[in-house]
Amino acid sequence: MGLVIALNKGRILKECLPLLAACGIEPDEDPHVSRKLIFSSRSGGHQLIITRSADVPTYVENGVADVGVTGKDTILEYGGAMGFYEMLDLGIGRCRMMTAGPVGVPEPAGVLRVASKFVNITRTFYQQRSRQVEVIKLSGAMEIAPLLGLADTIVDIVDTGNTLKANGLEAREKICDISTRVIVNRASMKTKFDEVREFIDRLATVV
Ligand code: AMP
Repeated sequence: MGLVIALNKGRILKECLPLLAACGIEPDEDPHVSRKLIFSSRSGGHQLIITRSADVPTYVENGVADVGVTGKDTILEYGGAMGFYEMLDLGIGRCRMMTAGPVGVPEPAGVLRVASKFVNITRTFYQQRSRQVEVIKLSGAMEIAPLLGLADTIVDIVDTGNTLKANGLEAREKICDISTRVIVNRASMKTKFDEVREFIDRLATVV
């Protein structure tokens, strides 16, 4: 029958193609070159769907894809999904979700203005601390928000810390560790049990 596998464009696609190849799953064209967004595998009857990162959980939750590969940040931001299981940590794309603010500037005592692309993660984090915040949704380049006075603090992904440093910011609190995860649709777990199990087991041995 074959599995339908949804992947992020960019970093995850680049890092995952060799892992998939090691599991015997190779797209019929090079996704880095082709403009196609759906690829068949050379063998095994699998399909790869290339989507935006935030859409991977949507495709898997709705059963359009059996399997998805995406960052833990995307899964957490998607929130409370009942339609898929997180099955495997690929151990790649490691980074941290952090709060950050301008170097040497203490956070204000009143309502904190927090800019982030990850509004659900941000709300949950501050709710758990009973800290009143105004969350400002941005699509990227959060680092400039405190510099321009739009926010006091940001919530963003930090790897080396160089991006924060270059923008006069410092990491403050760690919200969680992030890495690339494999998710599986709940129904596929039953209807394609053998194929899913074999895929996850093979992937687990190559990571
Ligand atoms: P760095 O300057 O190394 O701390 O990297 C920070 C920036 O790179 C962040 O703003 C993210 O957008 C991006 N980034 C770094 N690592 C990852 C990752 N594993 N997944 C997604 N984005 C990342």
